[in-house]
Order: sequence, then structure tokens, then C-alpha cells
Amino acid sequence: MNGADRTAKGGLRLDDVKPCAVCGEGILHGGVPVFFRAVGLEYHVANAQAIQQHAGLEQMLGEAAPLARILSPIDTISAVASRQVDLLVCLDCPTRTTVAELAEEVANRET
Ligand SMILES: [Zn+2]
Repeated sequence: MNGADRTAKGGLRLDDVKPCAVCGEGILHGGVPVFFRAVGLEYHVANAQAIQQHAGLEQMLGEAAPLARILSPIDTISAVASRQVDLLVCLDCPTRTTVAELAEEVANRET
């Protein structure tokens, strides 16, 4: 399952249904309301050189961020470090965990 496939027709495909990434129960185990969350996680590595270069341009232009953005040759400040992971999370679980904990759990599961 990837984000583009999942939303291609506006809904989750039957083949992509899996248990809640946090509690392991069915994503609709709570019954009503019949909502669940689809969460995408993607790790990026910051490009320190590009960030410093852009910050230097901003400083040179007197902290004129909008002008620096137009003039900057830098388009991206990071690179994707790992592929996107799509998770399904039941409605109750986001109140029991943080995104950081969820990311850690997924990383541990994949190694
Ligand atoms: Zn859950």
C-alpha cells in the first residue's frame, strides 16, 4: 500500500486493510464511530549545507525571507532517507501514543 494507491479511488482497498499499527486490533474494533486514520511516515535527512546556504542568503538580504526564497537556488532542504510507511490506526490509539513512538515502533518492526 502506498499513499497514491490508497487514495487513487478515494478509499482504502480491501487488500490494504491491516490491523491498527498501535494496538494490533482491527481498525474498526471500537464500532461506532466508524472512522480510522491512515498515517504516512517518511524519514528525511536534512541537507545542512543547503540550509546554511539559504540562511546565509537570507542574512545577506537583511532577513528578507520572501525575497531570499525567490532568489535562492536551493529547492529542497532534505532528502528522503527511507521509504514511506503507511499505517492504519484505530480512532482510539492516537490519544495513547505520539507520532514519535509510532515511528519508533514501525522502525523496530521493519528491522
Ligand atoms: Zn488501535
